Amino acid sequence: MTNARTNAPEELVIRGVHILDPSSNLDGISDIRLSAGLVNEVGKNLRGPRYLDADGLYLFPGFVDVHAHWRTPGREDEETIESGSAAAAAGGFTSVVMMPNTDPVVDKPVVVSGLLRRIEKESRVRAYVSAALHEGLKGERLTEMRLLQEAGAFCVSDDGLGTQKAGVLRNAMLYAKSTRLPIILHCEDHTLATGVVHDGIAAALAGLPGSPGSAEDVATATALVLAAETGAKVHVTHVSTSLSAALVGFFKGRADVTADTTPHHLTLTDELVSTLEGLYRVNPPLRPDGDRLGVGDALKSGILDFVATDHAPHDASEKDLPLEEAAPGFLGHETAFPALYTKLVQTGKLSLSRLVEAMSSSPGQWLRGKGYGISPGAPADLTLVDLSDEWILREDSLVSRSSNSPYLGQKLTARIVGTMVGGELIYNGLGAKFGARA
Ligand SMILES: [Zn+2]
Ligand SMILES: [Zn+2]
Repeated sequence: MTNARTNAPEELVIRGVHILDPSSNLDGISDIRLSAGLVNEVGKNLRGPRYLDADGLYLFPGFVDVHAHWRTPGREDEETIESGSAAAAAGGFTSVVMMPNTDPVVDKPVVVSGLLRRIEKESRVRAYVSAALHEGLKGERLTEMRLLQEAGAFCVSDDGLGTQKAGVLRNAMLYAKSTRLPIILHCEDHTLATGVVHDGIAAALAGLPGSPGSAEDVATATALVLAAETGAKVHVTHVSTSLSAALVGFFKGRADVTADTTPHHLTLTDELVSTLEGLYRVNPPLRPDGDRLGVGDALKSGILDFVATDHAPHDASEKDLPLEEAAPGFLGHETAFPALYTKLVQTGKLSLSRLVEAMSSSPGQWLRGKGYGISPGAPADLTLVDLSDEWILREDSLVSRSSNSPYLGQKLTARIVGTMVGGELIYNGLGAKFGARA
């Protein structure tokens, strides 16, 4: 399930840091002591053998990303567990769920156990495995979910394709419910999703084949009706339309449902397809501004529970192509917080505390259980951020093995300066300043 860190790191006191954790009602400047991999104490004038003066910096519970493609096994030229987890750490993430659309697909217990062994050796962050819902993600034969769970899978998903037939999806929900495995659903109806971008004015002007918003909405509605009936624990990922967000809202309280949206659907629109660049192909596609705003309102109100990146590395040979031929997907880990801080918090559209909740405690509770946050006795999974730093995203500064970020060349505010998992510094943007002796 997670990487092994057997040697507990030395005690560390972070002094004068602004601790913000809405789930623990923490919002103010304080000291924090980390000991034996756990948060030991939050208070004033704490002392310890090692310290970090963090004046002007913010400390959040570690970010959690329930949707990432680390391309292992099969496409290690695009990303590996090592590089994907390093990119996650550089983005402030301390826990990540790996999606199963690899080669081979994660649909057999031996693939799950093999991945877990590699995670143990290679991952800097806590990494969890999503197994497939159906063999080969084909939406035909159910996987042996119980055996996949015994092998260590955390959840199941047909991400990348989605499950097309309602009767098949209903059976999958019933089986998943009996195992208590959460299902992550990529909601897309392939009889409607026949294009490569959103079917709207931008697609028409660019002469590109479009997929309507209904391709997502119809599949979301079907999934939610079935979730309500079966009682399965369902998480709808990458919600990108106002109507799908509203549907999630209607089914809250009627089904065991949570949902996320992505940084790119919150910050970018389908106007980018006028460039005709394959970089901007993503699934679900970038939507018009009305959907972007609707999804943003749903995140603000909590109808959409949290943010997930859908980190999807691709080799340049799959992205430096016309839109129709390009592979869908963007990098996500390294830019999620800075992009959302710059484009939503600094513009007054979302509060900093809601953004922190949507990137840490809310997905953290979904993945790691109640109590995820900064409190004595909790694992010291923490993200240290400089909110005043302005920087420009350059290709050569990306930690990921791929460089298909839609934010390249953009000026962003807020920089991750330290990421800790179990009290161990797994990403250090501060150099020697970190952990000096008192
Ligand atoms: Zn997907
Ligand atoms: Zn995905």
